[in-house]
Formats: sequence, structure tokens, C-alpha cells
Amino acid sequence: MINFYPGPSKLYPEIGAYLQKAFESGILEMNHRSEAFMGLFADTKELLKEKLSIPDEYEIVLVSSATECWEIVSQSFVTNSSFHFYNGAFGEKWFDYAQRIHSASKGMAFGVEELPSLNQIPIQSELLALTHNETSNGTALPENFQQKIRNQFPDSLIAYDATSSMAGYNLKWEYGDIWFASVQKCFGLPPGLAVMVVSPKAVERANTINDLQHYNSFNYILANARKNQTHHTPNISNIFLLNSTLRQRDGVENIYNDLVKRKHDFLDKIQNFPPIQNYISLPDLQSDTVFCLQADESLLMDLKNAAAENNILLGNGYGKLKNTTFRIANFPALLQSDFDHLLIFLRSFFKAH
Ligand SMILES: *Cc1c(COP(=O)(O)O)cnc(C)c1O
Repeated sequence: MINFYPGPSKLYPEIGAYLQKAFESGILEMNHRSEAFMGLFADTKELLKEKLSIPDEYEIVLVSSATECWEIVSQSFVTNSSFHFYNGAFGEKWFDYAQRIHSASKGMAFGVEELPSLNQIPIQSELLALTHNETSNGTALPENFQQKIRNQFPDSLIAYDATSSMAGYNLKWEYGDIWFASVQKCFGLPPGLAVMVVSPKAVERANTINDLQHYNSFNYILANARKNQTHHTPNISNIFLLNSTLRQRDGVENIYNDLVKRKHDFLDKIQNFPPIQNYISLPDLQSDTVFCLQADESLLMDLKNAAAENNILLGNGYGKLKNTTFRIANFPALLQSDFDHLLIFLRSFFKAH
């Protein structure tokens, strides 16, 4: 089965062998304050910085999920309210969680074919929360918008949920203060681990706010991470897998170029199949790593069933787009041959329909 789901998504094929190696190495039975674990953690942070081109001065911590990161942002980086921009299900969910922690938090919905207007946003906002890549509808915030919002709000913290883009996109880290992603999407790993990348300015803010109320208060997490330790017994298996896959990976710049090429090639070719259309028509707003395609509801059902019979798993639509769209992940673990296979299938399907 070729898995095009944008999370949990196709794993790197070496994962099975790496798990066996982890088991044999004994690391999975080690205490997380042991030299062996601290070495693995230190090395993994170094690899992340090197392979994803993360600036040296940014801190990296590991937690359990992107959902946990939503809460950590509200707990440890905000005193009164955060300001949320959302055009889809994940951004909206984040706003919902933030309001439960700080009821004064504000949100602004925007359309999938537009960028959020910045005119109404108070310049003294503590923290702006954005979804870099909205997995539910296949939109992404373009780099020039990220630059604009960074320049316009020099004193606010800017937090990006980059769950389906980190490790695929060549992110401009300096445009954000807090970037986070769980690894079951673009990293090509099993679920249960998330990476959080934090700027010096955000570290300073967390220090001032001094939240120490939670087991996952950022200040505890960081104090441990600086010693290459963790605030609870971590997901050692997945950290081992993260380390092993990063080691064999190309730099993110090359990976990203390949993904963009594959995107253009695929989106060009599906124009031969008029019954499926990109749900997002403006090319500037189309994600490079998640494609959201729409089709008539009954055709879509046939398409998904036929795909499954051909061992191809298409991603279902998400939330309110469930029955009218399907999603295709363009993540690094997917091969060109997987996309070739998908196109052959689509050609034969539409010949018969
Ligand atoms: C998948 C996803 C999440 C949730 O990730 P978990 O690891 O399940 O917490 C959050 N945000 C975005 C944009 C996602 O794609």
C-alpha cells in the first residue's frame, strides 16, 4: 500500500531496520539521564540544526505532540492573550485550546484564497499564532507574508505550527520565534514525538513570564534540554529514529527543491483530469507539501475505492471538507515512483470514467 495520507504518513522504508538496531543497541532500556541517552539527544539536536539549517542560537526541545505544543505556547509564552489567525481546522483548534487557557485570546478567521489582513491587529500583541501549513485544506503562508508580519510586529512573539511542513520546507526560521511540528507528517516517522524550535527572544520571554506550574512548563523543558535531558521519560525509540533518518538525509534546501519540482509536475499533470480540481486556486497560497483536491462527492467515493483496490491510500478530506476533497501528501519519504504510480492509476481511472 502506498500511503499518501498527510499524517500519519508514509514512513521511511528504513524504519523497520532502525527499530531493530535501536532494540539491539540497548538504548531503549537506558535511563534518560544516562550518558547514552544524553549523547543521543545532543547528537539529534546537532543533526536537526545541520540538516534543517536551524540557526545556532535557536533552542531545540522535544515534546510529545503538536497539540502539546499548542498548550505549551499558551502556558509558558503568554500572560494574558494570544492572537490567532486561521483559515482551517488545525489553526481553529489551536485557537480553541488557547482560549481555554487564556480566555482573552483573540482569533481572526480568513478565507482560503486570501491572506489575513493585519490592519486590525493590536501592535502590542504578546504573541501571534499562525499555522504555517494548514494540513486540512492544503494552504500555506507564503514567505513574503511571513516577512511582512515579522517586520510589522517586531516586539510580538510569532509562533508557527509547522507540523506538515517542517523537514520539507526550507523554513526561514528568523521569521518566527516558536516553530513546532510533530514527526508523523513531513519527517516520515511514527507518531508520538514533536520538535519545538525556539528563538532567543522567546526564551527570554518565557524566562520573564516564569511559568513553573506544569510538568511541561517550557522553562523546565529547556533547563533539562540544555543538559541533554528531558522533563519526563521520553520517546527514546522515536528519538533514535529521528536521529537515524536525519543522518541519511540530504540538507533541507535540496529536499525542498525536489518537493517543489514534484509539486509542479504533479499539479500540471492532473490538469488532464478535469473532474478533479485543486481546492485552492491561487498558486501562491497552495501548499508545497499537502495537496487538497476537490471532486464531486460520488466520483470521489469511486476514486477512493478504486485507489484502495490498487493499493493506493488517498488522504480523506478533513473536517468539513471530508466528503468533497481528498489530500495527497508531498512529503520527502514519498518517492518519485510513488507519484508515477499514482498518476498511472489516475490516468486509467479517468479513462474509464
Ligand atoms: C497533525 C497536525 C496537528 C496535530 O498533531 P498531533 O501530533 O496529533 O498533536 C497540529 N497541527 C497541524 C497543522 C497538523 O497537521
